[in-house]
Amino acid sequence: MECGGIAHLISFLPEDSDIPIGTALAYRCGDCADRFDVVWEEEDEDRA
Ligand SMILES: [Zn+2]
Repeated sequence: MECGGIAHLISFLPEDSDIPIGTALAYRCGDCADRFDVVWEEEDEDRA
């Protein structure tokens, strides 16, 4: 996190299925309680 806190995933994720690309995942910072929405993107294995 930009503030140095730890973000906790607050969105429900099915454990037995893949996350569809484009799914918005909500995280909440444990330090400042800010919410961050992260769009799940397909992993690029070529990315450093
Ligand atoms: Zn924070």
